[in-house]
Formats: sequence, C-alpha cells, structure tokens
Amino acid sequence: MDKIIDGKKISLEIKDELKEEIKTFKTKPGLVVIQIGDDSASSVYVKSKQKSATEVGINFLHIKYESDVTEDEIIAKIKELNNDSSINGIIVQLPIPKGLNEKRIINSIAPIKDVDGLTYENIGKLISNTTSLISCTPLGVMELLSRYNVEISKKHVVIVGRSNLVGKPLINLFLNEDATVTICHSKTDDLKKYTETADILVVAVGKKGLITADMVNEGTVIIDVGINKIDNKLYGDVDFEEVYNKVSLITPVPGGVGPMTVAMLLKNTITSYKIMNTSK
Ligand code: NAD
Repeated sequence: MDKIIDGKKISLEIKDELKEEIKTFKTKPGLVVIQIGDDSASSVYVKSKQKSATEVGINFLHIKYESDVTEDEIIAKIKELNNDSSINGIIVQLPIPKGLNEKRIINSIAPIKDVDGLTYENIGKLISNTTSLISCTPLGVMELLSRYNVEISKKHVVIVGRSNLVGKPLINLFLNEDATVTICHSKTDDLKKYTETADILVVAVGKKGLITADMVNEGTVIIDVGINKIDNKLYGDVDFEEVYNKVSLITPVPGGVGPMTVAMLLKNTITSYKIMNTSK
C-alpha cells in the first residue's frame, strides 16, 4: 500500500470543488492580501496565493506598502476593507517589518474576514470549540487526516512545536476531535520519550532531520509541517527515507502540508463568503 499522504493531489481536488461551488454564487468572493515591505519569500507566497485564488474564481487584491508605512495607515485601510461587502477575506502577509505592532494590526481585521484565523476572537472561538475561521496550515493538517480516513478519536497525538501559527491551534483541533494530546517544544527533555508513543505525530519545528527512525513507533501516522531550504532543495523535519518503512502514512516535503495551506485559505474565504451572504 502506498504510504504517502499526497497533499498536492488533495489540494487540487479541493480547488476543483471550490471552483464548482463558486460557479453557483451570484457574485465572486473577494480576498485581499496586504503586504508590507519587500521580503522576497513573502512576494513568492503572495504570488502563489494570487494564482490559486484567480484559478478558482476568487477576486484577488494585492495591497502593497513600503516598510515605512505607519500602523495607523494600515489599520485605516483594514477598517475600510472591513466595511466593503465585496471583500470576504483579509490577510496581512507575515512577517511584517519590526516596529509595527503585529497584534494590533491583525486584531483590527473583522473576525468574519480573518481568513488566517489569527484574531483573538477566532483563537478564543477555536479554544471554546465554537465555529470559527481557523489558521490555514493547522486546518490543512486536519483536512489531510480526514481525507485519508485517519481516525483521531482516542488516539495519542504528539505535536512537536508550539508556535501560535501551527502547534497551538493544532492542540485544540485535535482535542475537539477527542484525541489525547501531548505538545513538545524546544525545552522538552528527551523528545523521543514522547514521539515514540504517538499514534499520530505532527512535527512543526524547522529543523531538518529532527525526527529519526528510532524516535517513532511502528504504524505511526506522520505529518511533517517543517520546511527547510538547503542548497535550493526542500526538506521536512522528519528523516523521510529512514522512517518510511516504519510508518503507516506520511506526508512528503514538498507535496504534503505545503499545498494544503493555500487551499485552506481559499476554503476559508468561501466559508466567510457564505456566512456573510446568509446573514444578510
Ligand atoms: P516557529 O519557529 O514559530 O516555531 C518552532 C517551534 O519549534 C517552537 O515552538 C520551538 O519551541 C520548537 N522547537 C525548536 N527546536 C526544537 C527542538 N529541538 N525540539 C522540539 N521542538 C523544538 O515555527 P512555525 O512557524 O511553527 O514553523 C515551523 C516549521 O513549519 C518551519 O519549518 C516552517 O517553515 C514550517 N511551516 C510550514 C507551513 C506550510 O504551509 N507547510 C506553514 C507554516 C510553517
């Protein structure tokens, strides 16, 4: 049996589904990406979001500011977009230049349009298991597991990495599906002690080769969120070749979680569109 969780294939399926759904809408959904400064990696990510959004029929607006823009100027623009009914999703491409208050800027986005799931309101709703817009990469992880029929209830899920963007939202997403969750991080002593007891192991650290074969049990499902670019080649956090024989399913890097992140951004935009258009 093929053990690969094919995120590329699933993301294309999701985009096709969204494209068909959008065809039934009276108007086109709208997504705005605000980019501040000239970070080259950010420009690549914004282009990829633009391409995917346009492909499925979402109007895409790219607003770009120089890095000396003021916080108030950005927040004024966000408030204008909050009041624009043709806009369903607003994201601020991270990272933003130092000196700007990221939390204040993000929290000025109307929660219903916060398709990155980063406002305090949406984080609070996730923690209290109330419907909300959820951060795209963790949502992509859950979607992959669901589409590969991986059972989560009663399983022991070990998450390595406690970032606000990936590790922490995953705690609640797995708890909400009745898993027993352990979270490990840079100060965890004896990582192996935890990883080898995982039924599902999610790794989101950013360290090539962190997880080796001796650290995982036979039959584990591994989701490798890590992206490490070395000599122009991409690697995950898991030693893929080594662990492959032991695991029951595993995401490759590239082609695993990565493509799901953009697909979930589009999905969140459609979710917001549907909520905005039924609550009128
Ligand atoms: P981050 O740098 O914010 O967090 C890294 C986490 O790893 C921290 O919580 C830290 O405590 C933990 N950590 C560091 N060293 C460790 C060690 N030796 N053992 C255990 N834990 C350790 O990173 P992030 O934003 O969560 O991203 C993590 C990785 O996932 C990066 O490689 C990033 O590029 C990738 N990523 C991928 C996607 C995607 O779409 N596939 C999206 C976001 C992030």
